[in-house]
Amino acid sequence: MKKYDYLIVGAGLYGAVFAHEAMKHGKSCLVIDKRPNIAGNVYTEEMEGINVHVYGAHIFHTNNREVWDYVNQFAEFNRFTNSPVANYHGELYSLPFNMYTFNKMWGVVTPEEAAAKIEEQRKAAGITEPKNLEEQAISLVGTDIYEKLIKGYTEKQWGRPCTELPSFIIKRLPVRLTFDNNYFNALYQGIPMGGYTKMVANMLDGAEVRLNVDYLQHKDELDALASKVLYTGPIDAYFDYKLGNLEYRSVRFETEVLDKPNFQGNAAVNYTDRETPWTRIIEHKWFEFGAQPKTVISREYSSEWKPGDEPYYPVNDEKNGKLYAAYKELADDEQNVIFGGRLGEYKYYDMDAVIAAALESAKTNLAK
Ligand code: FAD
Repeated sequence: MKKYDYLIVGAGLYGAVFAHEAMKHGKSCLVIDKRPNIAGNVYTEEMEGINVHVYGAHIFHTNNREVWDYVNQFAEFNRFTNSPVANYHGELYSLPFNMYTFNKMWGVVTPEEAAAKIEEQRKAAGITEPKNLEEQAISLVGTDIYEKLIKGYTEKQWGRPCTELPSFIIKRLPVRLTFDNNYFNALYQGIPMGGYTKMVANMLDGAEVRLNVDYLQHKDELDALASKVLYTGPIDAYFDYKLGNLEYRSVRFETEVLDKPNFQGNAAVNYTDRETPWTRIIEHKWFEFGAQPKTVISREYSSEWKPGDEPYYPVNDEKNGKLYAAYKELADDEQNVIFGGRLGEYKYYDMDAVIAAALESAKTNLAK
């Protein structure tokens, strides 16, 4: 008899949801994480009374009622709505592209005028078969929006000129002919009051949690403790990179406390010019309508990823897709190990999707 039914590697959302479900089924769980904290990439840390989103801004949004009801058991969500602002050389525009944006850009007042202006610019560009991202964007929204709101931001994100990026990266560019500047088309949206870390701690209530423990460094001893393993770390690391490294895109954050109550008046401001080196500034207090005397901001920089860096976004190209498929075959042959989550499945998951996936995996595996 092993001491635990499940060893859960990774105290992020996937691991925490699975652990919660397992415990509900009467299973004992040991949850470990190599980081000094729970909550994985949704980890929030309090600074100056403000919950700082340490691994990037996280806004919960979903159309999935089951998932929304599920998370509401663990936290009360506020009414935060994501309405980012674009800063182009000091000119401010509302995002996503909507009537406020078009009024500021061209002085147009009615939806007909805005639609006509976009159409006029699309036609003038005369692009029928876009050969790169620049041509694709102009053929969708015209020159002005492309030049001021898309070009610089995209080039900073990808580290390459838009003329050298493939057109398929942008399939559509949502244009709203209404004054709706709610970024997400989701039925439910908000931020857990008190931070994500508290929400994840509530999910893990009743589980034994050990932090600063790297599974791969103590695999044999840890495997000996549990009948089954749920692994939410990087799939290539599990197999000691024997087929090669899966690649990621990375982000670097520079966080600063400012001795003033309000820096930019909004949670997210995107810097859409090419010259400003950062892509966004996040002012964390506005996720929870903070009234603290100080403020905390994070500048985000897109950076090239190299092995050993924090993995953020999987690169969904053919090369990495094939490599993942090869690792997945090895994973399918592993006895008593379930692979899950953004790193275990090498997949970009929004939070609601990762929770839905963990619930599904729990349903399948706990019934066995
Ligand atoms: P993780 O949170 O990464 O958890 C995996 C855990 O495993 C980590 O804590 C890690 O330390 C641990 N681990 C790895 N290897 C080992 C090991 N060997 N031993 C022990 N522990 C190990 N989603 C939204 O819905 N809205 C947003 O606004 C949003 N913003 C995002 C912004 C950024 C910059 C990024 C990158 C993602 C964003 N997401 C957002 C997605 C969200 O972060 C993910 O859905 C979620 O974090 C995935 O949870 P997970 O448990 O799969 O992975």
